[in-house]
Amino acid sequence: MTISRDKIDHVICPEVRGLSAYHVPDPGELIKLDAMENPYSWPDWLVEEWLEQLRQVSLNRYPDASATELKARMRSAMGVPDQAAVILGNGSDELIQMIIQAVAGPGKVIMAPEPTFVMYRQIAVAAGLTYAAVPLQTDFSLDKDDIAEALDEYQPVVVFLAYPNNPTGNLFDPDVIRLILTRAPGLVVVDEAYAPFTDESFMAEVQAHDNLLVLRTLSKMGFAGLRLGLLTGAPQWLNEIEKTRLPYNISSLNQLTGEFALAHRAVFEEQAAAIRQDRTVLLAGLQALPGLTVYPSAANFILFRVPDGQAGAVHAGLIERGVLIKNLDGSVPALRDCLRVTVGRPEENASFLAALAALL
Ligand SMILES: *Cc1c(COP(=O)(O)O)cnc(C)c1O
Repeated sequence: MTISRDKIDHVICPEVRGLSAYHVPDPGELIKLDAMENPYSWPDWLVEEWLEQLRQVSLNRYPDASATELKARMRSAMGVPDQAAVILGNGSDELIQMIIQAVAGPGKVIMAPEPTFVMYRQIAVAAGLTYAAVPLQTDFSLDKDDIAEALDEYQPVVVFLAYPNNPTGNLFDPDVIRLILTRAPGLVVVDEAYAPFTDESFMAEVQAHDNLLVLRTLSKMGFAGLRLGLLTGAPQWLNEIEKTRLPYNISSLNQLTGEFALAHRAVFEEQAAAIRQDRTVLLAGLQALPGLTVYPSAANFILFRVPDGQAGAVHAGLIERGVLIKNLDGSVPALRDCLRVTVGRPEENASFLAALAALL
């Protein structure tokens, strides 16, 4: 079966043809420190209780389209202010897609700093929007004059700010974010995917800024396999975005599992606290190695820079030694020679550090 290039060019839009699909490598037996997953599995007693509850699900019926019970639990777990509205997504990726779909149109601009989470660009470009990337400073902070100028020039309908930022790990200055909120002509989405690993948040400010939306996910706190995200903000905005949501986007199995997990969230909060402590140990371990620039992190991963031109070799050498991390060299110029490691279990972090030390 061969389909001619001409036919594909005729059918598929140029924006999508110009993209590359998001590549997820097969980890096989490697120690998996590439994707910001929580490294801890559920205790056995919790798995047994969960399986018992799953029996109640009626898979012949459609799920509760408004996921009422899960929504209530997520609101309370994440401290969503009472007056704010909420939309749940099949992962926060899906919520990013809904926001972009709701604002899409010829000439519309989506803005974000660079480097940042790649899905903002991917989804914006696939939807035919213009994507404006504002370069971060060399320490990955946001310069308030750069961003103010870019806002005035591009007039973006949405600005995405990952807080802490992925893949750099830092928190932007909250006063610069407030300045963006005041100056932006459209929505500002503060994406708090890494909220379990920092005390900083804009959640309490949702009522203070009528153009602020806050995005959260259960993925990084321990449920990446579940796919559950939450978007919150003023009801008038969310009523519009809600129209782009497919009615049954949160399956019955997801709803029940999410409710169950949040009812036991003390277990996962303890895991997040352990990950925060292990981040400090991992950071010190990286800082002790020769030739690296290590960036501070408020998330469950650490970005570091290896000596000039060595990222590919270090990444491949780690795989040979049984450890998979993320190579960011070649993605955007600011991440030249950069690698990103997720905080794993203490013994996994130690294996990673030993393998890396052997390569430097
Ligand atoms: C991982 C990540 C997400 C995606 O989370 P899902 O809920 O798993 O789709 C969103 N934003 C940022 C900044 C992330 O790093």
